[in-house]
Amino acid sequence: MAHPFRLFNTLSRQVENVQPLTEGQLTFYSCGPTVYSFAHIGNFRSFLTADLLVRTATALGFDVRYATNITDVGHLTEDDMTDATGEDRMASALRSKEGQQFANVWDLARYYAEELESDWKHLNLCEPTVRPRATEHMREQILAVEKLLERGHAYETDQGVYFSVSSFPDYGRLSGNLDATTLEQSVRDVVSDPDKRDPRDFALWKKDDAHLMQWHSPWGWGFPGWHIECSVMAMRYLGEEIDIHAGGEDLIFPHHECERAQSEALSGRPFARHWVHTRFLQVEGEKMSKRTGNFHTVRDLVAPKEKGGRGIDPLALRMTLLAGHYRKPFNFTFNTVRAHAHHRERITEALRIANGSPGDAALTDTHPGPEAMGTFAPLYERALGAMSDDLNTPEALAVLFEGVKRILSASPSPPPGQMTEAAAWLDGMNNLLGVVRAEHETTAVTAAAPDEDGHIDELIAERQKARAEKDFARADAIRDELSTLNIDVMDSPEGVRWKRKSTL
Ligand code: AMP
Ligand code: ZN
Repeated sequence: MAHPFRLFNTLSRQVENVQPLTEGQLTFYSCGPTVYSFAHIGNFRSFLTADLLVRTATALGFDVRYATNITDVGHLTEDDMTDATGEDRMASALRSKEGQQFANVWDLARYYAEELESDWKHLNLCEPTVRPRATEHMREQILAVEKLLERGHAYETDQGVYFSVSSFPDYGRLSGNLDATTLEQSVRDVVSDPDKRDPRDFALWKKDDAHLMQWHSPWGWGFPGWHIECSVMAMRYLGEEIDIHAGGEDLIFPHHECERAQSEALSGRPFARHWVHTRFLQVEGEKMSKRTGNFHTVRDLVAPKEKGGRGIDPLALRMTLLAGHYRKPFNFTFNTVRAHAHHRERITEALRIANGSPGDAALTDTHPGPEAMGTFAPLYERALGAMSDDLNTPEALAVLFEGVKRILSASPSPPPGQMTEAAAWLDGMNNLLGVVRAEHETTAVTAAAPDEDGHIDELIAERQKARAEKDFARADAIRDELSTLNIDVMDSPEGVRWKRKSTL
């Protein structure tokens, strides 16, 4: 490998070489969103780090297995067990103005999960190998809790099942939260179960037969604690020991600390070798919040102005997010976006020039090696070197701009053959950074292909009727029928919508 892959490891608090368990392969789990609303650009900063990690590892020749989950269970707002109102994020979303138009919490989760995938594509984020959903892995979560009970790592009370922190002496190593008083304070006011043995203990299962989302378990009706889903899904899809685990900085504690404890208690082996965390994004120097009006979603920023959006080129948005190193706090400003929109125009022009050259066959090769890049190869090596060095995106972007300048200044009479090399280089840079051209067709959800003979509309009307009559079995059967016709149905705030499934 030309460059060692080096990443900061939260566990050791230093930059270390990535040394996968199996040579040449890399297993990677990145925590995904809770789908109670549209994901915001802060969430996407963390998803982008995961994407860049995958792209860099792939460019270095690793065979990457990448899992990122969808949390479609409503965990409690404050922590594991209960908050002041006893309500979770999904339930409060359902009661909100936007949420009231969903028939139930399941439809709400399905809708926002679909929309997440559409934003994901807008930002050129690569598709994971697998995108598991918490609700589809309930049985495994219950089995994991049973196993933890059997092994003495958990205990049951009238209110739920808890992981016993004192049974895992390494608890606290990832976050550095070793001090019992701090730990107690971090869960203070949150858990009000008098039978908890230790204030640090966290919930694996919450008994609640009134909750909007509940499953049957050996402990009665209820729902899982937040952390267990990621332990279970990471181990199911990637193995008991994984190479890299990532998320935003807020997940270090308690989420990842608890995930680590549960997973290692279950398998008896180290869980993740490398832990990668993205610092938070701020907007115009402040914490993003709906209240202060500086809260942005991808869709608001990229939607055309005539539809109430800001009309930002999605790849200019992606490039803006790349402009800061993932381990430094990032301040998102519209001035930075404007500067990157300008860079995007230059890149598009460079692409046009490189494409227009005779023999642009290099563009059809999606993974051009440096040999195809000729005199541009050193620039690619510099960019790859920067990305391999703890994902140094500012440096890699600077290299991209340098090469683009070279292409633009060679126009209109570039030396023969040079543009073929430039085209191959732009392709290589796109594989690495994803800002040169859109990689997915991002059709808006509303832009459904025509329903030639009205058959789809008929089925949808029939499904609505079935739902109105509370014949949910019939409604589900119609949804399945539509699915075999490659149609996805979404119950959204604007009413029922449908789209043809992507054939990408
Ligand atoms: P959530 O839906 O809250 O579980 O968040 C999904 C992911 O986004 C997690 O990895 C969070 O750590 C991350 N995240 C949330 N807010 C921000 C932010 N402002 N900047 C960067 N990452 C964030
Ligand atoms: Zn997680």
